[in-house]
Amino acid sequence: MKLSPLPTATTVSSPLNLHLISLQAFVFRCPSPVPVRTSFGIMRDRPAVFVRAESAEGHVGWGEIWCNFPACGAEHRVRLLETVIAPLLLHKDFEDPAQAYLLATQKTEILALQTGEPGPLAQVISGVDLALWDLCARRANLPLFRLLGGTQTSVPVYASGINPDGPLDMVKRKHAEGYRAFKLKIGFDDKQDIENINSLRNWLGDQASVMADVNQAWRVDHALNMLPQLESFNLAWLEEPLRTDSIASQWLQLHKATNTPLAAGENLMGQASFEKAIDMKTFGVLQPDFAKWGGISGCWPVIQKIRESGTRFCPHYLGAGIGLMASAHVLAAAGGDGMLEVDANDNALRSLLAPPFANVANGSIELDETPGIGVTPDLVALEKLI
Ligand SMILES: [Mg+2]
Repeated sequence: MKLSPLPTATTVSSPLNLHLISLQAFVFRCPSPVPVRTSFGIMRDRPAVFVRAESAEGHVGWGEIWCNFPACGAEHRVRLLETVIAPLLLHKDFEDPAQAYLLATQKTEILALQTGEPGPLAQVISGVDLALWDLCARRANLPLFRLLGGTQTSVPVYASGINPDGPLDMVKRKHAEGYRAFKLKIGFDDKQDIENINSLRNWLGDQASVMADVNQAWRVDHALNMLPQLESFNLAWLEEPLRTDSIASQWLQLHKATNTPLAAGENLMGQASFEKAIDMKTFGVLQPDFAKWGGISGCWPVIQKIRESGTRFCPHYLGAGIGLMASAHVLAAAGGDGMLEVDANDNALRSLLAPPFANVANGSIELDETPGIGVTPDLVALEKLI
């Protein structure tokens, strides 16, 4: 399946040119009554960094910068935007968002090496890129998925971030809300992990999709021991059983030992890393996160390659509503048989800013024709709520 190239100034009739006069970022924190547990750390509150971009003609777009870990890093990303990225992009003429993305990336390559901070810089550039595409879509009076060439309004979703403590209660709640696919956090205690997956599969039956996320917790021997025990649960995928940077031969060892598709991508950075992962042919599912690396401009060529390779494209996402809406639009535009990750845990910064996700029906949401990503944050109202 071939995906159309990313729209450029020469391929779409809508204007994509940009002359930015303002780039701002705002931090919010939502208390988390039930901490979100992963095998490598606990999230006790939910930070979010929103980007606001404004053009000389007064058009505005919104993006979101990944900032989950460590939680104290959210403010750092705001400062990176204000002091490093904004000065590179303001008061210049760009043909389209991809040109701004390229300039910001190229001009910070040495800084990324020098500071040892390629991640935070890439995350900031990603959030800015999302805001610029939203701005262009709003200006064109088109929903983002249509600006990107999409026609489908339905977006399959799955419930994610399901804690190992009492996961069935959460799954029952999410099933009642309309979800039909569920991803459990594992990588804590083997016996408990297996019991949890078993309880989900027993209650859900054979039809629902069940996935498990190890969050890079196992070494090869441990994974090889677990894989046969997981086989009978017919998982839709097993996510990050190893460190993402494990060598190809280790991923191949796992791939050969199981019929369960392996998944990764949220911790890959750069087109070359994704191309390597595709070429390894060991992953059944690849999961770029548009708020963490690449935005839309960097990820679109990667998504093209994922789709062409026949690998399942399932965007990773675990943040607030702005990035979630952007991710839904990108998946709608990209098509395929993928599902979008949706955090199952309560977070007002997500639910207030992603209205379509209040209406999951038979495992999917519907995007409407509201321009851009379809939501505009009211910062004053958010400040009062959080
Ligand atoms: Mg994951």
